Amino acid sequence: MRYSALQILRQGLTGNRGWKPLWREPQPKQRYDIVVVGGGGHGVATAYYLAKAHGLTDVAVLEKGWLGSGNAGRNTTIIRSNYLLPGNQAFYEFSMKLWEGLERELNYNAMVSQRGIVNLFHNDPQRDAAARRGNAMALAGIDAVLLDREALQRKFPVFDFDNERFPIKGGLWQKRGGTARHDAVVWGYARGADRRGVDLIQNCEVTGFDIRGGVCRGVETTRGAIGANRVAVCVAGSSGRVMGLAGLRLPIESHVLQACVTEGLKPVIDGAITFGAGHFYVCQSDKGGIVFGGDLDGYNSYAQRGNLPTVEDVCEGGMALMPAIGRARVLRMWGGVVDMSMDGSPFIDGTPVDGLYFTGGWCYGGFKAIPAGGYCLAHLVATGAPHPAAAAMRLDRFATGAVIDENGAGAQPNLH
Ligand SMILES: Cc1cc2nc3c(=O)[nH]c(=O)nc-3n(C[C@H](O)[C@H](O)[C@H](O)COP(=O)(O)OP(=O)(O)OC[C@H]3O[C@@H](n4cnc5c(N)ncnc54)[C@H](O)[C@@H]3O)c2cc1C
Repeated sequence: MRYSALQILRQGLTGNRGWKPLWREPQPKQRYDIVVVGGGGHGVATAYYLAKAHGLTDVAVLEKGWLGSGNAGRNTTIIRSNYLLPGNQAFYEFSMKLWEGLERELNYNAMVSQRGIVNLFHNDPQRDAAARRGNAMALAGIDAVLLDREALQRKFPVFDFDNERFPIKGGLWQKRGGTARHDAVVWGYARGADRRGVDLIQNCEVTGFDIRGGVCRGVETTRGAIGANRVAVCVAGSSGRVMGLAGLRLPIESHVLQACVTEGLKPVIDGAITFGAGHFYVCQSDKGGIVFGGDLDGYNSYAQRGNLPTVEDVCEGGMALMPAIGRARVLRMWGGVVDMSMDGSPFIDGTPVDGLYFTGGWCYGGFKAIPAGGYCLAHLVATGAPHPAAAAMRLDRFATGAVIDENGAGAQPNLH
């Protein structure tokens, strides 16, 4: 069923009884050409592009819970491509371009809203770093504008520009950045993959890999063994644990990252903003809730919930930036498990096991990477060669020294 204004009208006039489920609930087959492990954003996007871009439809996505039950459904939805280093710039800009056409491509309202993102600076060295990043972005064809204090004051009157300790001096603005509805992105890709014949199998946890003679021949699951010619692992916060089942150790740590949302308020924040003097970032949802987050909880964990001292620290950052936030009531707070790589940049690569592929190390920022992450992993699995936009995202880069040390834009666990 195609979605359209006419369809809404037709369904509205006939009691909304004609809507179809977004995807089928198939039983797992004994064997697939390709098995994708993990039904978050990257898993379903990979399956979608395998089918759409490469015509590979004998594909199953195996998800231990429900689709989108991991970080895809827990993040603060910011999309951007304001990176400094070449290894990341091409990839995240590719993702941004895919976001820009995504809803039309998927025929699904993912609420992509390019309301802009600004990284604030509070002193001269920070201004120089912002200018450097902005110039690097502009050279790579990515939009970037250095805003002065007056321009920001007009845009964000709610901020405390004259804070004694952290006066706001300006910010680096990416107009094409913004937000998207996290669940809808997963549902849109899942629907698109299902329509092309991909089996989306929920409540099916991968518990082991069938590896013989250095070749991955399938997976063990809570619903039985499933054979496969190729297996692609997209489990984000569970990367270390799942790849450990294949005997591989990764340069990744899993940490809890929390976020909060307040009651709905009238529009006060037009865009996504990161505070430059502490770890705090904020935007306002379409329903009016102020969505904000900050630091990791500071210790390794697989628990999808965090602790109050970190929330207190994040709220202190919020109070320094916009004291009015102290009057808002927090409605919900939650945690997700993020897969922190040691240089703040991700991996999309093959592994020493033939037929086993891996994506991960998404740190704080894998939501915005979902379109390009899925596209590039599908390319790698289908063709055996890395996509040019993701060629630097290799698993061996700590051994070779070719790290993508994106400090300032990708948060590293070693900085916390
Ligand atoms: C609080 C918070 C805020 C964030 N804010 C942003 C943001 O503003 N912008 C941004 O770009 N990024 C943000 N992120 C990061 C982003 O959400 C993640 O990097 C991204 O969602 C990870 O990719 P994914 O969607 O594929 O992961 P997930 O949705 O976590 O998908 C992985 C899936 O694998 C499944 N799985 C795990 N183990 C197994 C197994 N053994 N068998 C089968 N399935 C398994 C899980 O159940 C899960 O559904 C944030 C994260 C958090 C926690």
